Amino acid sequence: MPNNNCINAQETQYILALDAGTTSSRCLIFDHNGQIRAVAQQEFPQHSPRSGWVEQDPRDIWQSQLAVCRRALSRLEAEVKVPTGAFAALGITNQRETTIIWDRHTGEPIYNAIVWQCRRSADHCRELQQSGYAEMIRAKTGLVIDPYFSASKITWMLDNVPGARERAERGDLLFGTVDTWLIWQLTGGRVHATDVSNASRTMLFNIHDLCWDDELLKIFRVPRPLLPNVLPSSALYGHTDPEIFGHSIPITGVAGDQQGALFGQVCFRPGQAKNTYGTGCFLLMNTGTTPIVSRHGLLTTVAWQIGGETVYALEGSVFTAGAVIQWLRDELEILSTAAESEVIAKSVPDTNGCYLVPAFTGLGAPYWDPYARGAIVGLSRRVDRRHIIRAALESMAYQTCDVLTAMQEDAGLELSALKVDGGAAANNFLLQIQADLINVPVIRPDSVESTARGAAFLAGLAVNFWPDADALTAMTVNHTAFIPTWDKSRRTKQLRGWHRAVARSRDWLI
Ligand code: ADP
Repeated sequence: MPNNNCINAQETQYILALDAGTTSSRCLIFDHNGQIRAVAQQEFPQHSPRSGWVEQDPRDIWQSQLAVCRRALSRLEAEVKVPTGAFAALGITNQRETTIIWDRHTGEPIYNAIVWQCRRSADHCRELQQSGYAEMIRAKTGLVIDPYFSASKITWMLDNVPGARERAERGDLLFGTVDTWLIWQLTGGRVHATDVSNASRTMLFNIHDLCWDDELLKIFRVPRPLLPNVLPSSALYGHTDPEIFGHSIPITGVAGDQQGALFGQVCFRPGQAKNTYGTGCFLLMNTGTTPIVSRHGLLTTVAWQIGGETVYALEGSVFTAGAVIQWLRDELEILSTAAESEVIAKSVPDTNGCYLVPAFTGLGAPYWDPYARGAIVGLSRRVDRRHIIRAALESMAYQTCDVLTAMQEDAGLELSALKVDGGAAANNFLLQIQADLINVPVIRPDSVESTARGAAFLAGLAVNFWPDADALTAMTVNHTAFIPTWDKSRRTKQLRGWHRAVARSRDWLI
């Protein structure tokens, strides 16, 4: 009889991964084989005090994260005996750009977290553009001036919370993105740090020199004492306060959510890319150790830094992807569930010449046309609801294809496969047409937890839980591959039709 009390250290060690998302906190526990052994998730409240403003209470972010960690731990303990010290490390991945400022002495936030979606600093950003800063900021940060990034949110808080600027200048306040806030809480207020991937989304960080940039701090009027230390993505940040989990765990992996997903999808080589199909799409391509400046309006960002080596990525997003399926379901009411779209799309051989361009809020890369609006073109009496549903799914694949083409041109790299995740990646029809259009295989891992997996991998590498990237690549992850079936003339014909449809949606608002 095997002795159940005889525990093999290799088998009983785990990594705790915290996935601090925009609407919910999650905690996942991974074992040596990269298998998920326990999960817990909890939503937290969102606040919108005015149109276009989005806030969260930083205490809700922390309390929900703590609650899911404890719940995941007790779920694991219900399954197996978990000896003290079974957790080799803790990794964090988080919603990016969201801005929190708190008092370094009391730990009290001075204001709610200003969430990445919040547009309150749009006027400030427009002024900076008009003052001619766009080129310089892009050269240093890889970003386009936009309220999306943290810098103008910090300025807003310092200018609008009474006394904040004086306190910041005295060194009494600390700024952090959500990773930094969680590290501060987890270490009992002992560590104020972020990683390079999160820092690269603040618009205050020079992605070439890998440091906070004095010229940018001056432009955004951000006092330096506010800023966290910037560490590699896989490194020792500190230890959790023993009060929290009953013993302390080293925090050794941190990455923004999209970079976390790129790492979790083991896109370790230049030219490897992942696409997350959610409300919108987020595409990231590993471009190696040299940052590439885009000629198509894509962002250049730090993917991760490990052992002194910094890897960069090109990033592009599609504003409306899965949301078009929600629109068919909730506004047009021609679908009862998102999943039904797959069956209906497959029930017709094509769209009967119809294209749907979901430019509900304009078009992003590579068009950058805020004046574009949605269009359904090529209609005839032969088009019915099934063709429109099919055209909507195809629009997600076409838009992704456009961003990928721009990325490959910018990077001069050929894609060998596209790794995918996100809610809409459950749709087999969508992924097959995606493979057909881009003419490379589309790979969907059975476990879609790429983001948390990335945080676990980064944390595990730092403590030799996994020896190196090869060990991560070799780890078996079951997946489904979608293999291209179209020839060149079909691809060209379909894409030509799509681009004609896009042309008709453009420059619509007057
Ligand atoms: P987010 O993280 O942006 O909220 P998710 O990754 O949870 O998004 O994915 C949800 C989106 O995916 C929704 O917009 C939904 O319409 C779409 N979606 C979910 N399942 C399917 C499906 N089977 N086919 C097509 N779209 C889907």
